[in-house]
Amino acid sequence: MRFINTYARLPESFFERIDPETVAAPALIRLNRDLAARLELDLPGDRTELAEIFTGNRLLPGSEPIAQAYAGHQFGQFVPQLGDGRAHLLGEVENAAGERFDIQLKGSGRTRFSRGGDGRAPLGPVIREYVVSEAMHALGVPTTRALAMAATGRPVFREAELPGAVITRVASGFVRVGTFEYFAARRMEDELRLLADHVIERNHPAARKADNPYLALFEAVCAAQARLMAQWLCLGFVHGVMNTDNTAVSGETIDYGPCAFLDHYDPAMVFSSIDHAGRYAFNQQPTVMAWNLACLGGCLLPLLGPDEATARKTGEAVLERFIPAFTEHYRRGLCRKIGLPADDDSFSLARRLLDLMRDARADFTNTFRALCGAQEAPAAFTGLFAATGEIAAWLDDWLARLDRTGSADAARETMRAANPAFIPRNHRIEAAIRAAEDGDFAPANRLIEVLERPFEDQPEHAEYAAPPLPGERVTHTFCG
Ligand code: AMP
Ligand code: MG
Ligand code: MG
Repeated sequence: MRFINTYARLPESFFERIDPETVAAPALIRLNRDLAARLELDLPGDRTELAEIFTGNRLLPGSEPIAQAYAGHQFGQFVPQLGDGRAHLLGEVENAAGERFDIQLKGSGRTRFSRGGDGRAPLGPVIREYVVSEAMHALGVPTTRALAMAATGRPVFREAELPGAVITRVASGFVRVGTFEYFAARRMEDELRLLADHVIERNHPAARKADNPYLALFEAVCAAQARLMAQWLCLGFVHGVMNTDNTAVSGETIDYGPCAFLDHYDPAMVFSSIDHAGRYAFNQQPTVMAWNLACLGGCLLPLLGPDEATARKTGEAVLERFIPAFTEHYRRGLCRKIGLPADDDSFSLARRLLDLMRDARADFTNTFRALCGAQEAPAAFTGLFAATGEIAAWLDDWLARLDRTGSADAARETMRAANPAFIPRNHRIEAAIRAAEDGDFAPANRLIEVLERPFEDQPEHAEYAAPPLPGERVTHTFCG
């Protein structure tokens, strides 16, 4: 295990050096042993000692905790100072393969950036973040990972008294669009350049060799986010709070707050209890990301060109390619979901299916999964739609197209690798949280384990694939 802590080598204006607050009764809930092995962490075997580490009571040798400074646009409003108000970056480790990871505790106490907050996290949101981020990873989506969760034994006061917990997250970097905004708003150009250099080195090393490395960095961030937005949309994921401080320049999904996966397909779906205007609705996410990237481009202007007009022109040209790039990834992703080549006809066929799914309020995940077997068992697919006329016509068109384009077996395999059987369903997460609040972590652990293999049928766990019953539907999710 080797800590290199490159962020802590940056100037003091980038962070506050601060240790996590100690807690009286730490208890380990779960350790992600596969991830710990990939990081080559040298951990004790004993759960008591692990609990000390993953609540922040004890620091690993080489760790230099800091709270990172950042700003951000929250629901469109600029806030010049946010920062890690309840998180501690323990440091950066490098494994023998040269992969580098940032390790961060969240819910580990107050920092200079806490403002009115208590620096703590309730158990429920910690469980949601662990379950959903690890599920996203298993689904093939770039994301922060969950390394561990531990209870603090210390209550957290929200609308009620709740058990407190800490989640340990791992990322290829925790720099956000809002980190650039922090320095840009203060006109700290030297720091802006140091930050850009850090991100190039850590996340987008190919940009270093470009004629204009900062422009290449901007292009790389836009490219990564275009791909990410297509993945979210192809899986029915709603982030919930796509503020610029929750947008990582690594292109990883970050900050799982009031996030959710769609059950029935409603493209305008909003879950977050604080998103009254639907700014971050499911189908708004690519547009919002373009807006967030425009903020990043604005910050980078002093680095992009010899003068502001030239810089603006080059930056805008990059930004203009974002929606087309997203659409191309989305087209490919959606065509894979119906097992057809990524041409315009297949793309419109896929979108026709989405329209029918919307009208029928069909379950997003189960419809696509049933389509994988619809060549042999069409009724299991059409049965998901109340009115079967239009969907039967669609199925005929799809079968005809599949016939013309080649191997049915290859199509089935493509589809089974693109359409998961299991997603972290909101009602399952809620049930796991309620049990955990009563001291029973078995449902959370089972859920996490089923979601490690989302593309396998796992007939013995069929109940995890079932949509919520009317009384189980979760329509609102909350921040922690
Ligand atoms: P979020 O909406 O969770 O991305 O958080 C926005 C900002 O509020 C960030 O600066 C967080 O660190 C801070 N924050 C959120 N919850 C708390 C808390 N309980 N204590 C201190 N800071 C918090
Ligand atoms: Mg955040
Ligand atoms: Mg949050």
